[in-house]
Amino acid sequence: MTMLKTRFAPSPTGNLHLGGARTALINYIISKKSASSKFYLRIEDTDHERSKQEYTDNITNSLKWLGLNWDEDIQVQSKRLSRHQEVAKELLQKKRAFKCVCSEEKIAHQRKIIRENKNYSKKICTECKNDNDIQSRDEGFVVRLDVPDEGNLKIKDTIQGDVTVANLELDDFILLRKDQSPTYMLSVVVDDHDLGVNYIIRGDDHFINTFRQYYIYKFMNWDIPQYAHIPLIHGEDGTKLSKRHGAVNILDLKNNGYLKEAIINNLILLGWSNNQEKSETIELEEIIENFEISNLSKSSSIFSFDKLDFFNNFYLRKENGIEKFINFCENDVELNIYLKKDETKMKNVFNIYKKDIKKLSDLHDTIKVYFDENYKINKTEKLTSEFGSIFNEFLNLIGEIKDWNRDSIQNVINDFLKNNKIKFPVLGKPIRFLLINSYQGPSISDIFVILGKKDTIDRLKQYRDN
Ligand code: GLU
Repeated sequence: MTMLKTRFAPSPTGNLHLGGARTALINYIISKKSASSKFYLRIEDTDHERSKQEYTDNITNSLKWLGLNWDEDIQVQSKRLSRHQEVAKELLQKKRAFKCVCSEEKIAHQRKIIRENKNYSKKICTECKNDNDIQSRDEGFVVRLDVPDEGNLKIKDTIQGDVTVANLELDDFILLRKDQSPTYMLSVVVDDHDLGVNYIIRGDDHFINTFRQYYIYKFMNWDIPQYAHIPLIHGEDGTKLSKRHGAVNILDLKNNGYLKEAIINNLILLGWSNNQEKSETIELEEIIENFEISNLSKSSSIFSFDKLDFFNNFYLRKENGIEKFINFCENDVELNIYLKKDETKMKNVFNIYKKDIKKLSDLHDTIKVYFDENYKINKTEKLTSEFGSIFNEFLNLIGEIKDWNRDSIQNVINDFLKNNKIKFPVLGKPIRFLLINSYQGPSISDIFVILGKKDTIDRLKQYRDN
């Protein structure tokens, strides 16, 4: 198998979101298919104004949390400036790039003509390259790539197949700005080449860049990498996935109590299905084994938060869900206090409630109720007289339970209902309400277990004593 070198190359201009994580995930998976392949991480910080260290930290922490670990050190694009400039110089020498001194007005005018479709070619500057004075200047110019106007360019893409563009459609984009700083368009190619990246997998919004960047490879006589352009993810309303659709940043999802397994499962099924299995749940190891990028759909996929909730609930209910819950609590200031106070109670809450929750943060309010030392029954509720007539007897009975576990509690409740010929809701509903101030929730024997004997009886006594 060929040694594949993939990479994830985010710009640190924002937090890592679901779309970026999907790109990283697919690059990671492809690199893990063979032991000799590599997955690199490069921070593309050529946009000095918008790039921030906090975003770099967010991106690396998100990737680490997802378990998408990269090989070797992180490459930082801004540290390789002189190498990028060296390549631009070589392109100038080869006459594959040229110096351009066009004024902003001239460029704006040219762009307007292009926009209005008066000039079919997208080239911005056609004159500077033929002016020897301009070409022999030492400063005050930008460097543009001399992209041809004639002919077509065909790119083979693993997902999209062969895609052709007329060279007229490609602009003579800038390699070095007026201050001689390199643009993303130049840096990305130089860095990928120098790293030996031979498989570029990225969002299909970069497709047009691929055509443009192709000419840098070609003019430098460098090997052209293999490409796969992944269709973008949309929200359920069909627009590009964004904050408007819900939490889309990976660490926000983590803090809300989504598990990485659920996020990865959901992301990989966007445009791909695991034909080996009927079930939709699949974990990273199996994904690495079965995923084929060529089977990825060409059209954009819809991200559904309901689906994410479904997967999250599935992974929370798995055997190791409890460890994830404990880990989540340890990283939450308030929940960590409760955890230190009574770990068994916390575990009981999780085990009893996990089937009904979508994400771990859903347990926040529930946990608070169980740990509330100043718990007060909501007085506004009126309970039935039928309940009033049996309550004291029930309270005495449970006071006598020696073994405070679910089975013995359940037996006492069942016998009580039978002996008094009452239906469960007559007892169960109000008791649940008195204990947790809600008619919704788990069975009352489960609530008894979580609260423990003392708290259960103390809470119920509040009703008796009022
Ligand atoms: N830095 C680019 C971005 O964040 C990605 C470059 C690439 O993948 O080639 O959009």
